[in-house]
Amino acid sequence: MTTLHVEHPAHPHNHGPDCGHTRVSHGDHVDYAHDGHLHREHGGHWDECEPGGHVTHDGHEHRHGADCGHPSVLHGDHVDYLHDGHRHAEHDDHWDDH
Ligand SMILES: [Zn+2]
Ligand SMILES: [Zn+2]
Ligand SMILES: [Zn+2]
Ligand SMILES: [Zn+2]
Ligand SMILES: [Zn+2]
Ligand SMILES: [Zn+2]
Ligand SMILES: [Zn+2]
Repeated sequence: MTTLHVEHPAHPHNHGPDCGHTRVSHGDHVDYAHDGHLHREHGGHWDECEPGGHVTHDGHEHRHGADCGHPSVLHGDHVDYLHDGHRHAEHDDHWDDH
């Protein structure tokens, strides 16, 4: 899966363990939930951590919801559920890997 490189311009805030934003474990790195965006550190600046295309998660038996026990994070106009280091978003009748 390719990762789009979208730099967040003029990001004066420096995310860190104590900055107060929700930390989201995402694969091999950590994102910070910031006003509905997910920001990851990249070489001294902050990138939007956006899915690089449409990646579906096949064979996803579990149905995420408000009470499913997985943490959720606001991502633009939808909600991602944090699931084993992935972010899953509902899309039609399946789950996307974000
Ligand atoms: Zn922060
Ligand atoms: Zn940020
Ligand atoms: Zn990420
Ligand atoms: Zn769930
Ligand atoms: Zn998402
Ligand atoms: Zn899931
Ligand atoms: Zn989809």
